[in-house]
Amino acid sequence: MQHYYKGMRIDTTAFRVMKLPRTITRAVFLPVLLLVVVAASACGRAESTSLHNSISIPRITRPAAILPKDRVVGDHLVTFDETNLAGKLPPARPVQAITRGNPELKRVAITIDDGWNADMRILELLKEWEIKWTAFLIGGRGIAESNPDLVRAVRDAGAEVCNHTYSHYVMSGKDNAFVVDELWRAQEAITSVTHEIYPYTRFSGGAYDDTSLQWAADQGFWMVNWTVSSGDTSKGVTVDFQVNNILGNLQPGAIILFHFGGYNTYEVLSRVIPEIQRRGYEVTSLSRVLEGTPFVLNESE
Ligand SMILES: [Zn+2]
Repeated sequence: MQHYYKGMRIDTTAFRVMKLPRTITRAVFLPVLLLVVVAASACGRAESTSLHNSISIPRITRPAAILPKDRVVGDHLVTFDETNLAGKLPPARPVQAITRGNPELKRVAITIDDGWNADMRILELLKEWEIKWTAFLIGGRGIAESNPDLVRAVRDAGAEVCNHTYSHYVMSGKDNAFVVDELWRAQEAITSVTHEIYPYTRFSGGAYDDTSLQWAADQGFWMVNWTVSSGDTSKGVTVDFQVNNILGNLQPGAIILFHFGGYNTYEVLSRVIPEIQRRGYEVTSLSRVLEGTPFVLNESE
């Protein structure tokens, strides 16, 4: 067989490895080979340490050139670089927390919180009935970050997926860095699945103080609580009581609070939704009940 290197014919017999007895191969060649490999990798490490200095592991990111541009679509931002979301929303107006949508519109919002022990029948129901609705998912604690399938299922069931902080700790009395980190870590976990950012947040138990409200607004989030609670966190509550309480507090722009792992939540939703619709209301998402108010995201902000 003829072998060529850069056009020159070469004699391969000169490169044949001399066959050695097995014992010699193992005793001498393997340790030498190992030494060479270890030395080479040590050199590589030393070089990368001196080059990158304090940076430990370089983060692999997709090249910016292939990412589509961020854009405001209706009431939310669509983005594709979920590794750095902070600063993407324009500051929201610092107001008191929103507890009701536009009273001029005969619409009510379904909002469902947390994500623990999620009753998946809720998602099937809302999807089948083609209801637009809003979810406030926890970022950590076994929810959005470690369960992207849940985020996807919630989104696919018609929800606008919003953040409910990362840890679900009480935000009152915490410092600015803590609150800001809570918002964006949760948002990253959600947006890495949905590519969407809605300008709304809700804190654990709906509890906030003036400073945390202001800090959320600085980051572009309106604090959204509720008009009426379904009472689905009260052990022993009855479906009749929950249904009557919701219907008794029904009003244009009402925001109704539910939980994915609440008591009777599926049963209550399957009873109240048709009744609310029969009374002439649209059962819908937060963005739909906030239409016509200043609390929506738009291009000019
Ligand atoms: Zn909660």
